[in-house]
Formats: sequence, C-alpha cells, structure tokens
Amino acid sequence: MSDQVKYVLDETQIPKFWYNLAADLPKPLPPVLHPGTKEPVGPGDLEPLFPMALILQEVSAERTIEIPEPIRDVYRTWRPTPLMRARRLEQALGTPAKIYYKYEGVSPAGSHKPNTAVPQAWYNKEQGIKRLSTETGAGQWGSSLAFAGALFGIEVTVFQVRVSYDQKPYRRALMETYGARCIASPSNETDSGRAILAKTPNNPGSLGIAISEAVEMAAKNPDVKYSLGSVLNHVLLHQTVNGQEAIKQFEMAGDDPDVIIGCTGGGSNFAGLAFPFLGLQLRGGRKRRFIAVEPAACPSLTRGKYAYDFGDTAHLTPLVKMHTLGSTFIPPGFHAGGLRYHGMAPMVSHLYELGLIEAVAYHQKACFDAGVQFARCEGIVPAPEATHAVRCAVDEALRCKQMGKAETILFNLSGHGHFDMAAYISYFEGKLIDQKYDEGELAMALAGLPSVAA
Ligand SMILES: *Cc1c(COP(=O)(O)O)cnc(C)c1O
Repeated sequence: MSDQVKYVLDETQIPKFWYNLAADLPKPLPPVLHPGTKEPVGPGDLEPLFPMALILQEVSAERTIEIPEPIRDVYRTWRPTPLMRARRLEQALGTPAKIYYKYEGVSPAGSHKPNTAVPQAWYNKEQGIKRLSTETGAGQWGSSLAFAGALFGIEVTVFQVRVSYDQKPYRRALMETYGARCIASPSNETDSGRAILAKTPNNPGSLGIAISEAVEMAAKNPDVKYSLGSVLNHVLLHQTVNGQEAIKQFEMAGDDPDVIIGCTGGGSNFAGLAFPFLGLQLRGGRKRRFIAVEPAACPSLTRGKYAYDFGDTAHLTPLVKMHTLGSTFIPPGFHAGGLRYHGMAPMVSHLYELGLIEAVAYHQKACFDAGVQFARCEGIVPAPEATHAVRCAVDEALRCKQMGKAETILFNLSGHGHFDMAAYISYFEGKLIDQKYDEGELAMALAGLPSVAA
C-alpha cells in the first residue's frame, strides 16, 4: 500500500495527522447555505456555534491537519485500537474469506465517538470556552463528550432524547459520573422544546428535536458553544485516526482488505475507517469496495433524497446537501438509537452520488442474529448499531463462500453493547420486531424539503 502521501504514525503508533478527504475528492462538496439568504455561509456565520479552529477544519482543503500533542496524549490511553481477525467466525461460516474487524469499543465511553469528542473539547478549551451543549440519542455521544469535558474542565449539558432518557438510565448515570448535566428532550429549557411540548406534551423526542434545543442554547448564550458527534466534516476528519491505524496494522499483518464496511447513522465511524483507504485509491492506488450499512427503518442513503435540508427539526441549522428523509421525519423506535437520524454526512452522501461507495439497508432482527453469532464466536457483544456492520460482513463472507472467493473483509466494530443489553433481552424473548417507517410520513417529510435554486 505504498503512496506518495504517507500516513505518519508516531513512535506509539498514534497518527500524527488527521486525513482530510476533501483534498482528494474528484469533485468538490456543494457549499453549506445560509437558511435565510440561501447563499453560501462564511466562517463568521458559524462562530456563535463553534470555535474558530473547528470551523477552519470544517472548510479546510488541506490534505493533512496536525493532531496537537495534548490530544494525541489522550488518544494514547486507548489507541491504537486492535485490528483483530475473526477466525472462529470464519470457521463457523465455512467461508474462504478472511474477516477482520477494527475494535473501537476499547475507548472509555465504549465507542469510536471519543475520537472526536476529545479534540472538540480541547479546541473549545483553547478558545476559552467553559460550557458546551449537545444532544444524544442512545447516549453514546453524550457520554463521550461528558468524558472529554471532564478531562479539560468544560461543563457539558446534554439534551437526551426523552425515550432513551427513560429507557437507558445507565447511559445517563455514566454521563453524570463524568459530571455532565442531562436533560430529557423535548424540555422546558428552550423555545423549541417548549413549542413542541405545548403541541404534544408526551412527545418521545427525536435527535432532530434534541439538536434544535442544543443549538438554541448555544446560539442564545455567548459563553456556550455547540458540539455535534457526527455528520460534519470536522467530525469525520477526527475519526480518520482509525483508518490510518488500520492501514499500518494491515501492513504489519501482510494483508490488505478488498471490502471495507461500516454502519452509518450520521456516517462518522464509516468515514473514519474508509476515508484513509479511499484516499489511497483516489491518489492512484488500488480500488476497494466500501459499503455503508444503514437501518431499513431509517434508510437515508438508500431511500432518501439527495437535497439541501436542515440538520434539525426546528430549522435553526444551516442548509447542507445530503441524503435526507426530511428533517420532520421521525423514524420508528428501533434499538440502534445511534442510527436514527434523518440525514447523512454531506461527505458520505457526495461519495455515494459519485459512485465511490455502496450502501445497503438491513432490518434489526437479521442484525441481532449476526451480532449474537459474532459474540458466540469472538466474545465481544456488539452495540446494536455495530451489528449492522457485522451483518454485512457475514453476508459478504457468505457471498465469498458461494463464489469460492478468498477475499479479505474489514469491518468497523464501532462499539460494544454493554449498555444495550435490554435490546438483547428483547431479541432473546422474541419481542424484537422489524419496524417499517410510514411511507406516507416519509412522502410528507420529503415534500417539505426547503426549496433551493439548483
Ligand atoms: C453513534 C454510533 C454510531 C452511529 O454514528 P456514526 O456517526 O454513523 O458513526 C455507530 N456505532 C456506535 C457504537 C455509535 O455509538
């Protein structure tokens, strides 16, 4: 895997740079638009929400961005994460394929999300910010930012989607252990929350609503900034430590993946593993397959429209071009809470439009089947989100078996499921159902997309 742009790791095998795919794109990303003027936003428009260093990363065209030493120092507490070969799973499937996984569940919060929570908190601290607001669905992102806030002395307020606030008390307890304040969303603390509660007092909440509340809190308080755990370019950028490590680890193992798989909620763990490999390809290296796996009940890439849309329900964010189910679309309440977002990262959407990546959608029961089989072979219980990647890896291995092909498959095991055992209990009790979204509601949400001149 030689390349004119070397991905550089330091003596402890931590990457020295984040890799920015924007530098190697065959066609530039469509601009982010101001919701009022529909003109491209400038860095100044984003200043109420983010520190300048992150805004500059968001719009950067530099191929590599140096990771400050204090951030690498924190990464060292759990990185590099292991690249493992799932030999017992290969045997159980009787496949000639080799299956590898990169295990991100070894971080303190149990997923890939601290890879971006730590730099986001650090850059805010560098700019003198004392408070961050954010949203969380299942609680993975909220606990990651709470952890990072604790490291750098930043107060973190988390708007947690009401259903998961009630159903997942242990994630909330973890956030509070790290010192964050957790508020069930929709809440009475913001105008957007109050407006929704006035109409529907028992509203179960959604990521789109929780984002509105967190953005509003930052926009109205000069001493508060907002932090997002996926979707944005700078978030995907931070995640690229994972793929760079994987390239190095495959070199050490004397192997090379043909297929690279990640589950996609907002697209960040998929991007983190795939982009450094895709960069090699775009700079003239060999071609590989990249597969984004999404839930069939919230299929933004495979069923959504590629259009300008808001990132939140109350329409406080700028307009971004992405695959979207419409910002008013509320997906059914399946267990992979981290995949219940109406949109997809603009960068991942763009790659899908360019035909550089593939996408598939799976229902949750088939994913848990694969998750349980994986646990019984390899010992690690995957997070419900990650079971989507496991399902796809298993299907690819079975395809190899059928075709008698010895391909090398790599998937991202984005997190463990230790806080999600209620979902596994439902599965074993036979109570897990494959929910379908309402076609009528999807059509309505798509009809309500903002109009933007081509
Ligand atoms: C949040 C989460 C996801 C989905 O988010 P992406 O930005 O698409 O990566 C996937 N897996 C786990 C374990 C998560 O916590």
